Amino acid sequence: MIKKIALVAHDARKQELVSWVKFNAGSLKECELFCTGTTGRLIEAALREVLGDEAPVVTKLLSGPLGGDAQIGSMIAEDRVDMLVFFCDNLIMQGHQNDVMSLVRLASLYNIPFATNRSTADFIISSPLFLDSTYERIIPACIESYKNRKL
Ligand code: PGA
Repeated sequence: MIKKIALVAHDARKQELVSWVKFNAGSLKECELFCTGTTGRLIEAALREVLGDEAPVVTKLLSGPLGGDAQIGSMIAEDRVDMLVFFCDNLIMQGHQNDVMSLVRLASLYNIPFATNRSTADFIISSPLFLDSTYERIIPACIESYKNRKL
């Protein structure tokens, strides 16, 4: 079951993410949302507009270029995020490209559902597994073996 969702969008894709959030507001209502700073402000306003007092709490971390992507990456590594929606600008390099790549790597490593575009985000949020409390994400065996490696 997905409860804790991290949402991030680069400037050129923020409106696309806001539109996705409004479209899926009913499903997001029961979730805890974690966002980089500017994305979070926009999403909070969009959810208030659609859901009013029923809007979920949006935790706003630092802005992405100031460490927000890195904060979300560490939350994934600490098992504090169940799903990531990350709409990257695919046409330009970011000043914080290293942080972007780190976040993508950690989402992949820890096997969390991870959408980089709207269609994938729609497929994840509408999956029966999204609400299935019996579904347990598999933590890849390579993580335990890396922790216990003999040097
Ligand atoms: P922002 O950060 O939501 O603060 O704009 C997003 C990013 O660039 O990673």
